[in-house]
Amino acid sequence: VITVTRIAELRQFLAGVRADGGRIGLVPTMGSLHDGHLALCDAARRHSDVVVLSIFVNPLQFAAGEDLDRYPRDLAADTALAAGRGVGVLFAPAVDEIYPTGTTAVTVMAPALAGRLCGAYRPGHFDGVLTVVAKLFNIVMPHVALFGQKDLQQATLIRRMAADLDFPVAVRIEPIVREHDGLAMSSRNVYLTSDERVSALSLSRALRAAQDAFAAGERSPAVLTATVRAILERQSGVSVQYVELVDVDTLESPARAAVGHAVAIAVHVGSTRLIDNHLLY
Ligand code: AMP
Repeated sequence: VITVTRIAELRQFLAGVRADGGRIGLVPTMGSLHDGHLALCDAARRHSDVVVLSIFVNPLQFAAGEDLDRYPRDLAADTALAAGRGVGVLFAPAVDEIYPTGTTAVTVMAPALAGRLCGAYRPGHFDGVLTVVAKLFNIVMPHVALFGQKDLQQATLIRRMAADLDFPVAVRIEPIVREHDGLAMSSRNVYLTSDERVSALSLSRALRAAQDAFAAGERSPAVLTATVRAILERQSGVSVQYVELVDVDTLESPARAAVGHAVAIAVHVGSTRLIDNHLLY
């Protein structure tokens, strides 16, 4: 794997790849890589010849008081992991390479979709995400870009951005990778104490309960979300932000639950905010 920190150098390298007819796959991340990220790299390899993994903790998507300063960073470990999964280029720019004037006067916004779910609790977050992903699309010009289902609302917004703004990139959403006990992998899991780690298992347990109820014939969104909420609220140390059943394309709540709808959760476990979701089948 080669590590590149400059946009110009990356563009020059990738121009050579394209000239040789190579397909480019992009996996945008904030680093502190885990198996969820690495599964995206594996998928990228299946769909492209050269995988670009970007590592950029994007200040624009953190609100004041969020964990920008303490977000875990470990470029040496990430480089070793990326090399082991066939990543060709690790793009790890500094903040001033991406935002040379300190900020950006033009941003990408999706008011209707970005205000719901997580967006209601993290104002401006998705404008920051969409803006940096649009920049990465223009810097890398990938044939395919891969994102995780773990960030359900982000996945919906990026699919819509690519479609609505005609980015010539195929967006692929890959399944959630979980620990053996069900906890969805996240760079933020390192914040959890051992007690909180146990409490956090209630998220995947609650989503399984929703799936079981759905499989048993329950179709009421209110009943399904109440089932999830009851399990979360019973768990000490967990405080619920939202539990919603949504259509993954519109993020709106359907009148009746159906296959393909998502049950989406956000909670705090101690001071750590965790999200998880499940696509009903
Ligand atoms: P992050 O570094 O947290 O911004 O995540 C980078 C990409 O990895 C995003 O597309 C995430 O949705 C995806 N991702 C994070 N955690 C997981 C997971 N447990 N399973 C699958 N994808 C994930």
